[in-house]
Amino acid sequence: MSVAIAIDGPAGAGKSTIARLAAKELGFIYVDTGALYRAIGLAASRKGYTADDKEAVIGMLSTIKVELAFNEKQEQIVLLDGEDVSGLIRTPEISMMASAVSAIPEVRAFLLDLQRNMAHTENVIMDGRDIGTVVLPDAKVKIFLSASPECRARRRYDELVEKGMDVKYEDILSDVVARDYADSHRDIAPLKPADNAIIVDTSGEDLETSVNKLLTVMREQL
Ligand code: C5P
Repeated sequence: MSVAIAIDGPAGAGKSTIARLAAKELGFIYVDTGALYRAIGLAASRKGYTADDKEAVIGMLSTIKVELAFNEKQEQIVLLDGEDVSGLIRTPEISMMASAVSAIPEVRAFLLDLQRNMAHTENVIMDGRDIGTVVLPDAKVKIFLSASPECRARRRYDELVEKGMDVKYEDILSDVVARDYADSHRDIAPLKPADNAIIVDTSGEDLETSVNKLLTVMREQL
């Protein structure tokens, strides 16, 4: 019987970095579900669709294949029609497209089984927006990770600059605020803590402190 840990929270709360390190420590597989929505955002953007082309995006779903795989370092890679697009999905444009397509019920349904199947066979730490509420409602541990918008935008900004991208902090902050709003006000699977989630705020904390805080919570609950 596999064990699942669900980590939800807004953009830039540090979910992926913290969850990846915690998974390593616990010997669990880390699954970043945002990558799936990003892959669909990328597919839509390659077709020239915009956030308003809902019907076109729905029509596209039966023509694409999205898969998660793991490389030899046990790091997740996302495949779109067999192509490794893990690097291409990490741009601000694709972040916004991912948020737009994620509000389409057909897109969420398209990705649901894929996410659930991963948790059936492996011990996972899965991060996203609706893992504790919708995808894995029976997860053994549910954590809702947050931090102030400014702190989250600063972390995203530093990450993108480190990758050599030419971005402005103000733009990242307004993207973070817009995505938070869209993610928590959509009709389907809105971003919110599960009833029994433990809420952890990482504002102003360094990575090590946040990881240790989370590991303590996880070990207590497992
Ligand atoms: O986590 P990440 O920022 O990569 O997610 C990109 C977008 O995908 C989010 O803004 C959100 O709209 C969507 N998403 C979602 N449900 C998930 C994971 C991500 O709606 N479980």
